[in-house]
Amino acid sequence: MLPNIVDIAEQHGLIVDASSRFRKEVKCKCPFCHEDSKPNKQRKYYLSLNSKDQVFKCWFCGEKGGVFRFISLLEHVDEKDIVQRYRKRNIIHPAEQLNRNQRHLLRQSLGGGSDPDWRRMRERDMAYYKRSLEWLWREWNAFIEHEKQQAYFWLLLGIKTWKYEKYVEHIRQREKQIEVPLLQYVCTMYSLAERPTWTNEVEESVDRMLTEIQMSEMNELRLKGG
Ligand SMILES: [Zn+2]
Repeated sequence: MLPNIVDIAEQHGLIVDASSRFRKEVKCKCPFCHEDSKPNKQRKYYLSLNSKDQVFKCWFCGEKGGVFRFISLLEHVDEKDIVQRYRKRNIIHPAEQLNRNQRHLLRQSLGGGSDPDWRRMRERDMAYYKRSLEWLWREWNAFIEHEKQQAYFWLLLGIKTWKYEKYVEHIRQREKQIEVPLLQYVCTMYSLAERPTWTNEVEESVDRMLTEIQMSEMNELRLKGG
């Protein structure tokens, strides 16, 4: 079984066009020519991924090929080595690519507990192991979704309070911890002409928080003055 090209794209932090996420043809920003990252091309997504045949093609620079070539270009590793890597793994599930640290962080966010012995589980009961991987992958994606929103919260807070540097550093620290890119993602979201709905919700919560702070400061002043 070939690795899923859309999962590969997401693991490598590519910006996916949300409206195409569950279609056969998923569109994203091309990491090879970056043409669609130009400021006047916010709505363009030149790279198209086909998760049925696991192939890709950029409609601007013409870069194309199968999923192994895709990984090889993204990771700057020889395609032959990539093929071998996957052959060795035998069964491939994106959740199996999460490292110890990432699994630990996920456990923490779910309220603690220790990571099971995955290898033993796999040897004992393959079906159960696969179900557990599915569960892990779902939880991980929800976790990352939340992290992205949190990072977007910090970005807006930084912009609105003129402490941009401080909060960007905050985001950088967090992406180092979870080993998933956040900053580039939230900056792209911020620069979109038409942002997804969740960004509005985050913005409202930032505004609400800032208003509350302002009001309590005014109250304090009033108390001092009176
Ligand atoms: Zn391209």
